[in-house]
Amino acid sequence: AAKRGGRERVCLFDAAMDESQRFRQIIETGLRHAIAGDELALHYQPIVERNDLRTVGFEALLRWNSPDHGPISPAVFIPIAEESGLIDDLGEWVLNRALNDCRDWPGLFVSINFSPRQFKRANFVEWLDAHVAQAQVTPGNVQIEITETAIFEDTEWAADVLRELHSKGYRIALDDFGTGYSSLFNIKNFSLNCLKIDKSFIEGLGHDKHSAAIVSSIVHLARALGLNIVAEGVETDEQCQMLRLTGCSHMQGFLFGKPAAAAQAAAAHADSLPGTNDGTSRAGVIG
Ligand code: C2E
Ligand code: MG
Ligand code: MG
Ligand code: MG
Repeated sequence: AAKRGGRERVCLFDAAMDESQRFRQIIETGLRHAIAGDELALHYQPIVERNDLRTVGFEALLRWNSPDHGPISPAVFIPIAEESGLIDDLGEWVLNRALNDCRDWPGLFVSINFSPRQFKRANFVEWLDAHVAQAQVTPGNVQIEITETAIFEDTEWAADVLRELHSKGYRIALDDFGTGYSSLFNIKNFSLNCLKIDKSFIEGLGHDKHSAAIVSSIVHLARALGLNIVAEGVETDEQCQMLRLTGCSHMQGFLFGKPAAAAQAAAAHADSLPGTNDGTSRAGVIG
């Protein structure tokens, strides 16, 4: 019986493997169509600064509406694109679209996500530069979002690439900070402008002592290193208050704006231009 049980387990395991393979295959095939067709969109979510909650930039977030399966989350398809190599074509689409769209909000930056594989390509800087130049966008208006995984696997090489990007004027943000191999001691060796604190820590603010302690120590250490901080996933007034008191320089989350199409994002930007804000719409947010 033991032997039979063992065999069954193997069979179940194989079946699960098959299913996940099949799922991957479906996503991969669908993505190929999506890139060629009209199924992708970039949405933009405001990043605000702490004092007057004015928008200083937008994060570009990829959306895929599959005619066969409906909307699919980037958290699902990006890792598959990354493994299959489709991320190269996808990333090219994202970069071109983001550079084109950001010309509608001069003076604000666009923050673009790059997966480890994209960042690690041999000619990343040249590739980026060529597109930025062609779109006639200033590097200072472009923020590169990378994760810890992208830089801590080959730190010397990553440090060189980041230094080069920095010297060309790009902003560099370390995304999802706190979820990977975070080491604030390593952080000081990289040319970074900003740390984005993962929303899992912001969620805990207000009801979980540990989250509050972690957020406040990240904020203080990052400040000491001269870095900006963006708190991700800010949804409530209470979280916003606590972050301001901690000294967090920037925030992003549904409280300030959900990811939206470029035209809507541009309209929201008009609201937050100096002098055009009557002080009523946003003051309500912080009570
Ligand atoms: P991320 O870069 O950490 O992006 C932040 C995620 O948090 C986004 O999820 C955003 O919609 C969500 N979010 C923002 N504010 C709130 C909030 O107040 N509450 C909650 N619950 N969620 C909030 P999204 O758009 O589903 O993207 C998931 C991830 O997919 C991104 O995480 C990023 O890692 C990846 N991704 C998205 N677009 C791209 C892209 O163009 N290229 C690459 N390489 N990765 C991308
Ligand atoms: Mg991001
Ligand atoms: Mg993030
Ligand atoms: Mg995140």
